[in-house]
Amino acid sequence: SALISITDIGKKYVIGSEVIHALNSVTMTINKGEFVALMGPSGSGKSTLMNILGCLDTPTKGQYVLNGTDVSRMTDDELAEVRNKEIGFVFQTFNLLPRSSSLDNVALPLVYAGIKKEERNARAQKALEDVGLGNRVSHKPNELSGGQRQRVAVARALVNNPSIILADEPTGNLDTKTSIEIMGLVEEIHKKGNTIILVTHEEDIAQHAHRIIRLRDGLIEDDYLNTNIRSAL
Ligand code: ADP
Ligand code: ADP
Repeated sequence: SALISITDIGKKYVIGSEVIHALNSVTMTINKGEFVALMGPSGSGKSTLMNILGCLDTPTKGQYVLNGTDVSRMTDDELAEVRNKEIGFVFQTFNLLPRSSSLDNVALPLVYAGIKKEERNARAQKALEDVGLGNRVSHKPNELSGGQRQRVAVARALVNNPSIILADEPTGNLDTKTSIEIMGLVEEIHKKGNTIILVTHEEDIAQHAHRIIRLRDGLIEDDYLNTNIRSAL
């Protein structure tokens, strides 16, 4: 069933007398449990689309229905609420709090969700065990390798049981071997039933996804099922 349904969405930025159409008209459906790679050259609209899908921003035209709710015209506060409930983010630069332990980093989304400390810590512990870091809960980011930091970020994205994991260039700061390890982790998460949308510039990273969507000039240029899936498991 459709988890994401977007219809003719556009996003324009007006800077002085200049109008930039970052997205022209994008229509697509993503079902629960899909693993999608979003590709396209620099400036094609990937970040703009991810920001809209992740409820960080709203389109300037068209409709976005997420898990049955129309989020196209929500206020920032309403979007924040949907985001905390529905979306888990993984970034290229990990975005961990440098002075906090793995446990506290992973528990952070649960603070916003108003969950009590004891349960927060139990769930963060479990999420860290799920990504293979049960023995690194007290470590701070600078005491971890790049791959371990990204695992902490993945645990943080999962701890709230979101509907969608949005991963923006998650392997962009990792060496090849570590990138493959992280893609293996993403595959495991997908196998457990999670819906994943991955932005990447790298063709071989995109090949781990089951569906590939290519953007160009704010339009979908190509959208197809990957018949050549690469697995890291
Ligand atoms: P990436 O393509 O690596 O995701 P960004 O999304 O940061 O990079 O930027 C992509 C393009 O969008 C760049 O050309 C950048 O100059 C432009 N851009 C991003 N944010 C803004 C902004 N707030 N104002 C103007 N241009 C922006
Ligand atoms: P990508 O992530 O594929 O590189 P973006 O979505 O960042 O593409 O950018 C698409 C277009 O929108 C680019 O021309 C970029 O310069 C422009 N753009 C992106 N964000 C902004 C912004 N905040 N203000 C003005 N222009 C922007």
